[in-house]
Amino acid sequence: MKSTEAAHLVETYRHVIGRLQNEAAVPTADAASRDFLDLAQSIEHQELARLNATRLAERARRLQIALTRMADGEYGVCSECGTAIPPKRLLAIPDATTCVACQERLEHAGF
Ligand SMILES: [Zn+2]
Repeated sequence: MKSTEAAHLVETYRHVIGRLQNEAAVPTADAASRDFLDLAQSIEHQELARLNATRLAERARRLQIALTRMADGEYGVCSECGTAIPPKRLLAIPDATTCVACQERLEHAGF
């Protein structure tokens, strides 16, 4: 594995954590100072932010697993068949733990 992929993984993880902190910082609706429409929009926005935060947290979790694998020297190696994952795939999906062939096999198996 080259250091480019490792740096990209760390960079992506930092980015996701940063966005997660932003989403968590969304101000809560202030019922007293808003009319109903504003409040409804604000609640909708919060729902969206929560959805985003859930997705980001899931992404952060997978990236964290990838970082753990990197520390173990297993990053960039398919967890299914043990072959090296192409750098292009790692740059596109930094949290990938399987090669394309295994990923497809797992998807077809219903995972
Ligand atoms: Zn594989």
